[in-house]
Amino acid sequence: MKFQLADRVKRLPPYLFAELERIADEKQRQGVDIINLSVGDPDLPPPPFVLEALREESSNPKNHNYSFSQGELFFREAVAEWYKERFGVDLDPRKEVIALIGSKEGLANFARAFINPGDRVLVPDPAYPVYANGATLLNDGIPAPMPLLEENEFKPDLESLDLSGVKIMFLNYPNNPTGSVMNKDDLKAVVDLAREKNIIVCYDNAYSEITFDGYRAPSILEVDGAMDVAIEFHSCSKTFNMTGDRIGFAVGNSELIEGLRKVKSQIDSGPPVYIQKVAARALQSYVGGEPPGYIKWVNSIYAKRRDLLIRGLREAGIGVKKPLATFYVWMRCGKSSMEFASKMIEVGVLVTPGIGFGRHGEGYIRFSITQPKERIEEACERIKGALTR
Ligand code: PMP
Repeated sequence: MKFQLADRVKRLPPYLFAELERIADEKQRQGVDIINLSVGDPDLPPPPFVLEALREESSNPKNHNYSFSQGELFFREAVAEWYKERFGVDLDPRKEVIALIGSKEGLANFARAFINPGDRVLVPDPAYPVYANGATLLNDGIPAPMPLLEENEFKPDLESLDLSGVKIMFLNYPNNPTGSVMNKDDLKAVVDLAREKNIIVCYDNAYSEITFDGYRAPSILEVDGAMDVAIEFHSCSKTFNMTGDRIGFAVGNSELIEGLRKVKSQIDSGPPVYIQKVAARALQSYVGGEPPGYIKWVNSIYAKRRDLLIRGLREAGIGVKKPLATFYVWMRCGKSSMEFASKMIEVGVLVTPGIGFGRHGEGYIRFSITQPKERIEEACERIKGALTR
């Protein structure tokens, strides 16, 4: 029998990294020690208070029933309290907050609620591929790439955008893969434009808590008028090293939240109640908007690793700007990113070629600093060797 995939699935771009992964697998089988600096999954464990809460809450039989698609009210209240303390933003937990089974499904299901076939969707380029693929192409929308260029500090040039037929603009700061950030003036310009042109702003703030050197990431909802046009996505994945526990949330304009809830109510139920209990407790570990010591400790480790990698790359002759946030380092490699990544595999270092994040990612490499200091040091030595050979 021969089955045809739906056209919208056929429209997904080819998976670029199959060949790189095949070579890496083969090397590993040959006994080569591979240092993986490509995956964006924290190596450090969740905070001890999260693990303790998980033991307690998961052993309570009452926490094993279905949850609402919007999530439990206690969780939404914890999110609203966290928002108030962390960003100074007031939210109605009944209408302006929804629980997510990780922000990834939220981004894709949100777009499903608002895109009609043929609607244009502004997606950053380079970017987390879900905006263009899972959210736009799989919902019959048309991705319209917004170049994020180094000369603009990897922020979109709002004045140059073609806004005809645009329904949604995706934005993500602190940014994966570039590590770049937006300040409140940048966000205000986005909100003003969206209000003027009636565009939904879908702001992905998944890395808001992974910040360094005193930098604190804002919420787009801090900007006047943002509540009219914006929905913001968050995740416990990176903040509390809980990627596998699958919990996140979206907040913002009540009509946008309601659209997302409507779609989700036909597709899934809320995250496990015990996970919502754990995540609520995790959010409550903030005091007066300040993260608990554990998060400060994790960020200080990332900052040290970032400095180490950047020093190593400089010694190898490559200048890289220090990111103020995220656990990524975005490096200009000056040639085909696939070629550069292949050269790195030869010395057992796995990195992500920028082309995987979009056309404007070509010529760059993303390093993920989710490996211990010693492994990053070793990777730097190998990179130096490979580049000076
Ligand atoms: N947004 C960005 C920018 C990401 O990098 C990721 C994960 N890599 C996500 C969202 C999704 O995270 P999760 O589904 O675990 O919340």
